[in-house]
Amino acid sequence: MKNSFFLLLMSLLIASCNNERSICHLLDQSGKWHGDEQFIREDGVVSLEGEYNTWVYQPGVFKTFENFELTTEVFTRPGANASILFHTNERDLSQGYEVVIDNSRVGNWDHLLKTGSLKSVRNIHYRMVEDSAWFRLSLKVVENHIFISINGNPVVDYIEPEMPFRTTRNEGMTLGAGTFALTTLFGNTGISFRNMQVTVLPAAEKKRNDDPEFVRRITELHTRYFPVVDYHVHEKGDLTLPLLMERSARLGINYGVAANCGLKFPIETDTQLEAYQTSIEGLPIFKAMQAEGREWVDMFSPALVKEFDYAFTDAMTWTNNNGTRMRLWIPEETEVGEPHDFMEQLVAQIEKVVTEPIDIYVNPTYLPVEIAQLYDELWTDDRIDRVVQALVKNNVALEINSRLELPGSKVIARAREAGVKFALGTNNTNSENLGRLEWALEMVDKHQLQPSDMYLPNTDD
Ligand SMILES: [Zn+2]
Repeated sequence: MKNSFFLLLMSLLIASCNNERSICHLLDQSGKWHGDEQFIREDGVVSLEGEYNTWVYQPGVFKTFENFELTTEVFTRPGANASILFHTNERDLSQGYEVVIDNSRVGNWDHLLKTGSLKSVRNIHYRMVEDSAWFRLSLKVVENHIFISINGNPVVDYIEPEMPFRTTRNEGMTLGAGTFALTTLFGNTGISFRNMQVTVLPAAEKKRNDDPEFVRRITELHTRYFPVVDYHVHEKGDLTLPLLMERSARLGINYGVAANCGLKFPIETDTQLEAYQTSIEGLPIFKAMQAEGREWVDMFSPALVKEFDYAFTDAMTWTNNNGTRMRLWIPEETEVGEPHDFMEQLVAQIEKVVTEPIDIYVNPTYLPVEIAQLYDELWTDDRIDRVVQALVKNNVALEINSRLELPGSKVIARAREAGVKFALGTNNTNSENLGRLEWALEMVDKHQLQPSDMYLPNTDD
């Protein structure tokens, strides 16, 4: 009698989980999870160990979750690797979507997808949370809209199109309704969840996709694990970090935001560098240093430079044979003189610049406006090969700059042949000219660049 009363009470409680605005504490009912034995629950914390284990939440007969917000706190041990599945079902776990949790170091292609990724559809490649600390994850699904945030910062803001791009491998990745599952992945060492709760949300209007063609293009790249990253973004003009984060989540482009560091640039000292690094800690971006001029190598301590995900520089600031310190994008400061003589000096500068402790050579093969129209003539095969060889020798990646449309197609082709890695970038000066990597992605197509052709920052733990 007592037992059946308990069952009745339980079924009422469970039913309430699926009512509008009701809040359901998923981890309070360990009996509601079907799965492997290693579901360890202690003091409200559920820990998942081992790899390839799955636990599926049982919402009750004929019950599913459709519109909801799930919030939870997560703790990863170094090596933890897991996913939260939603809109899935126990009979077919390929149904629905997967939110990745992986805080391992950047640069490991076997762990390309980091925490917050909507797997295969909107991948995250930067690491914004560290292991061994609790962080907050929120996942909100309303009709055709999926929104993911980590510690309150947006990382995925995806509107599923009417006919989403899917391959046969992930054709089940569509919204509908279903339940939740937790799954551990390759190499998992242990992951914990606490305070996992789901709020059931009411039905709403579907959101409109402004540019289905662009969504399709970006999704196609994510699906084949091509890292969609703009490594050369500046917080400049009207473009603030909150705007950048919102934009990155919406477009599905990861951003590497770079601070300009060097003589006569916003950051000139270690103290300023450190303050800047503190100010961007934990944000959903790659953290980059643009090293300016040639003096920078002696201006900043190498340990601080290493705190960035990567560093890059260009060959636009240097001193010519007459002793004039030039900034090539400013005509008044630039002495071109005889074009071929200028080119010899420029190529020698590039060969020198890429020996600096940098990861990417940016604004590549840029010419002052005075001779820009002679690009094809002045960038001879011989000069191109010298640049390419210098990149290979120093293991420096080559930027494909979308705004400047540099380097030329011939340079890209020769660099690819030589095994140089590529990094897509923009070098914006405001929000408008940040663009969406249009030209760079054209080059990706034209030269059939593969994920293995692409640069990936390599951070140490
Ligand atoms: Zn720049």
